[in-house]
Amino acid sequence: MRILRHDGRFPPTATSLVHQVGKCILIIFRALCQSQHNCLVFFHAREDSTFRAMDTTPAFPSLLVVRHPLVQHKLTILRDRSTPTKIFKELVDEIAMLMAYEATSELSLEETPVETPLERGTGWRVSGKKLTLVPILRAGLGMVEGVLRLVPGARVGHIGLYRDHDTLEPVDYYFKIPGDVSEREFLILDPMLATGGSAAAAVASLKRAGASRIRFLCIVAAPEGVRRLAGSHPDVTIYCASLDRELNAQGYILPGLGDAGDRLFGTR
Ligand code: URA
Repeated sequence: MRILRHDGRFPPTATSLVHQVGKCILIIFRALCQSQHNCLVFFHAREDSTFRAMDTTPAFPSLLVVRHPLVQHKLTILRDRSTPTKIFKELVDEIAMLMAYEATSELSLEETPVETPLERGTGWRVSGKKLTLVPILRAGLGMVEGVLRLVPGARVGHIGLYRDHDTLEPVDYYFKIPGDVSEREFLILDPMLATGGSAAAAVASLKRAGASRIRFLCIVAAPEGVRRLAGSHPDVTIYCASLDRELNAQGYILPGLGDAGDRLFGTR
């Protein structure tokens, strides 16, 4: 038996194989092109909801917006100017965890034997590259614990960047990642994708160090930032909880949530 999670629509040719149970769960019998085992595929359709698991937009093919209702609910409290530091911190942590659930939905699996108390069976385990989280200092630190709760075996690197006054380009002042770079998959963490300058520089630093599989996880993104990051690194999938309207003249995202670092660490 094979159980898969899927958010797309079935091709019309599959319709005769699909049996609907309730509103959202569909079961396909004898799914085409699967292994020799009898296959059951559980499908979370969510087509009856205005909230989809992840949305894409034609303007930014590498951007995925996590639409989970809990993420959207928590994001609204995060945006609220009256939310205190303690709650803000907890919410960033929870949103990071929920978004990591979506951002890891395509990790590859391999079959593995398992001895249950009753018999020998077959289970699944995550296979392939080892995951490394790379928070961009300092606001990215607020997302680390939430992601680690889901992927406790992940390693954590760090990138610190400052803007050079003359060139206005971001420069690493701190860069530390695990050594076995080619065997690793990287998830860069930064709650705000604003101008995209730091994000693009962080990806470039990781690539210079030999990384090739990189994703970017933020909470709020500005179109300007997505354009810059996707323009320089179209191979990097970007996950956000909201694609906001624009940047203001000071580089803050509108409507945004203010300065994420200050709100996380109470330095406002
Ligand atoms: N960084 C933040 O913390 N907030 C913004 O709105 C933009 C960049």
